[in-house]
Amino acid sequence: MKAFIFITVFFFLCRNAQPVSGGPEKPSCPQEVTLRQLGLVDVRDVMPGVVVDLRYSGTNNFLKKDIYGCLDVAFVQPEVGIKLKKACEILSKLRPELRFCVYDAGRPKWAQQALWDHIDKPEHVKHVYVANPKKGSIHNYGAAVDLTLVDAKGVVVDMGTPYDFFGLEAQPRCEEQMVKKGVLSRSQVNNRKLLRKIMVQAGFLSITSEWWHFNSCSLASAKKKYAVLP
Ligand SMILES: [Zn+2]
Repeated sequence: MKAFIFITVFFFLCRNAQPVSGGPEKPSCPQEVTLRQLGLVDVRDVMPGVVVDLRYSGTNNFLKKDIYGCLDVAFVQPEVGIKLKKACEILSKLRPELRFCVYDAGRPKWAQQALWDHIDKPEHVKHVYVANPKKGSIHNYGAAVDLTLVDAKGVVVDMGTPYDFFGLEAQPRCEEQMVKKGVLSRSQVNNRKLLRKIMVQAGFLSITSEWWHFNSCSLASAKKKYAVLP
């Protein structure tokens, strides 16, 4: 009888030590749990084949600091997710060999503040690098996305500058001038135009200062429609 009890207890302990089902792993990052609970959408669930290279979750960014910590999921509002899905459909028709690579998406308020605090510049020039947390960024509402295109091997399409390049070369409003000067090639600008065309057709707004950034709506509209991400 003792042996039976021992075997039974041992069996239960073993069962409980390792989950036997093949279900999805529960996220252990509290910030990620919060965003999922708020109903935000993981871009991997709506963008087939997307590469997620969340630059502020790690040190491969202009600050060389890991701002997001354990948060390594690119989240957006559900209606932004619908537009991203549409963007993938357009891309697959126009250039089936290419995929999107997402650099940033929903950025919680605490992360916006951390970015701001880590910029080692005078207060009045910090806004050149990142939106003032007091004003807020559309990223803070899960309604903006930073992204580029990659080929089948995952190699980034040449857009003329890397992500978060703080020079005129990265600004769509300066592209023609940069081509004339020979700083950007026509094909680099055409690659940006392809990205913009797809995103605009999918319902996003491009901006004049960063080729990689796209808004789903204006900041005023985001503030009306959504709560800032905690
Ligand atoms: Zn952005």
